[in-house]
Amino acid sequence: MRASRMNLATLREDPADAEIASHRLLVRAGFIAKSGSGLYLYGPLMHRSLDKARRVIAEEISRTGALEITMPILQEQALWERSGRWATYQASRTMLTVKDRGDMVFGLAPTAEEVVTDYASQVVSSYRQLPVCFFQQHTKFRDEIRPRFGLMRVKEFIMMDAYSFHDSEASLGETYESMRVAYLRAFTRLGLEAFAVEADTGAIGGSGSHEFMVAAAVGEDAIIFQNESGYGANVERASGRIPAAPAWAGAPAASTLVHTPGVGSIADVMAFLNANGFAGVTAQHGLKCVLFAAKTAAAEHLVAAFVRGDRDVNEVKFTNTVTRLLGEAGPVLTLRPMHPDEVRACTGAEPGYAGPGAGLKVAFAVVDSQLKGVGPLVAGANRTDHHLVGFVLERDAQVPLQWDDIVRTVAGDACPRSGKPLNEKRGIEVGHIFKLGTKYSAAMKAEYMDKDGSRRPFIMGCYGIGSSRVVAAAVEQHHDADGIVWPLSLAPYQVVVVPAGKPGDAAIEQAAQGLYRDLQAAGIEVILDDRDAKPGVKFKDWDLIGIPLRIVAGKAIAQAQVEFKPRGGAVELVPVAEAAARATAWVRDGLARLAAAADAVR
Ligand code: ATP
Ligand code: MG
Repeated sequence: MRASRMNLATLREDPADAEIASHRLLVRAGFIAKSGSGLYLYGPLMHRSLDKARRVIAEEISRTGALEITMPILQEQALWERSGRWATYQASRTMLTVKDRGDMVFGLAPTAEEVVTDYASQVVSSYRQLPVCFFQQHTKFRDEIRPRFGLMRVKEFIMMDAYSFHDSEASLGETYESMRVAYLRAFTRLGLEAFAVEADTGAIGGSGSHEFMVAAAVGEDAIIFQNESGYGANVERASGRIPAAPAWAGAPAASTLVHTPGVGSIADVMAFLNANGFAGVTAQHGLKCVLFAAKTAAAEHLVAAFVRGDRDVNEVKFTNTVTRLLGEAGPVLTLRPMHPDEVRACTGAEPGYAGPGAGLKVAFAVVDSQLKGVGPLVAGANRTDHHLVGFVLERDAQVPLQWDDIVRTVAGDACPRSGKPLNEKRGIEVGHIFKLGTKYSAAMKAEYMDKDGSRRPFIMGCYGIGSSRVVAAAVEQHHDADGIVWPLSLAPYQVVVVPAGKPGDAAIEQAAQGLYRDLQAAGIEVILDDRDAKPGVKFKDWDLIGIPLRIVAGKAIAQAQVEFKPRGGAVELVPVAEAAARATAWVRDGLARLAAAADAVR
């Protein structure tokens, strides 16, 4: 490719709305252009990089035996009604909808379980056809609350989505494991360092799930992990043992109503109590109450969550608990903090004084399991400006208590596997795998004929990779002050040849043209920078765009040499006669190294 024909559009300035490196650099280097809020156009360079990501992902997913298909983006409402998920997605407003001329409503694919389950019920009838896995890489739409970070969180993106069908849990387990390996192989080939963590199953549902994360300070997900035990989980799902509270020697033997005027936060309450006859009490002896309204398709339920005073409620775990408690009346579609008026109605007090003593009116009072047998505590008294000091949950609660793991795990808690302290870091989710079981097949009556002649719902798994997010994550992991440093497997072009001499210098022109021709003939994706610009300007552009190898034909031509410079590496002089062969080998070796690393994945 000749640079003069590439319509290069690099920018010197960062876009005003870019908060993270991948967003900034992909826009500045001309890979993407904003087309609307949460909407990006993929320019010619992005098209090539994304195409490479898609190809590697498709190759690795195909290696597991999965079959590539294409599903429609328009999905009928009626189909989603059959799985019962239309209401969930409408409530969370995740799905964008459109109407046709006959006023029929469609969702724009946010995912495709319904479509593929319906397909399987049409084309798979016998256990003999199982297991089978279908996948596609296609546009997905999500009406994100806050599209941001460039390609990371957009309204329209490319996802690899795969769906597997089985006649046993064991068979599902095998495919789940082969997908885990396929994901890690694909990410490794793409030069991404990714790792799997336990995940919440969320709106998709199912019995088990792992997310694939790329570690990055700008990641939107928090990951709790322990290196020695290998434990890793999204904070939404993570559990850990909370270190015990210090002994509170002066705790009263019975629950005592104490006037605590004008103190707001738990810290203030404890400071007040310490100064007023309850020495030694700390936030760890507090009982924090958070009041929520949990909305289902049919109703809103007022619920209370209790965790230790120095801790926070994990809203994802808590939502799952309330869904479980509601049973048939669930699932919880959204959770929001109660409004002050609702708090007053539930407790008879101003906000800040809720507790599980007399006067609390909620559908469920859920207490974090780690508070079992712990106490005495300081609880709100459901009376403005009052607390109950010396409160023992099992003895003094006046409402039925439900116990579950609802606390947010933090660094320093003990690992559930090893007991060693947990750590926390941030990550970008690039992929997700789920064991769905029969959730969709049972609801949609998608069945096969088993060996014994009976009809059974398929046991299913589903698997997603954000192909376009993967490209952005690669930039997040591979960049420097000058621009993008593409892994060879994702670079839009592999080599750029830059003639850098006085215009019309025949020797330089000849060397550059010759190299360009030889590299093209060798199958290398090469650019010849034939633009009428200063070498410094050209170098800046290629550094920003991130081409892995730059070859400069300049002054050294007088000694029959050219300059080799890997992106981010040092300059080396190479004889012109060897340059094409050396560059070709450099590219092939680089790709072979990534492939070898993928082969080492276990
Ligand atoms: P997130 O928690 O980031 O919203 P998710 O759990 O909703 O992700 P899945 O439903 O598991 O995501 O979708 C599979 C993959 O699609 C994700 O792992 C991610 O890489 C990608 N993805 C999801 N939402 C977006 C988005 N709005 N923009 C770009 N990629 C996305
Ligand atoms: Mg999402």
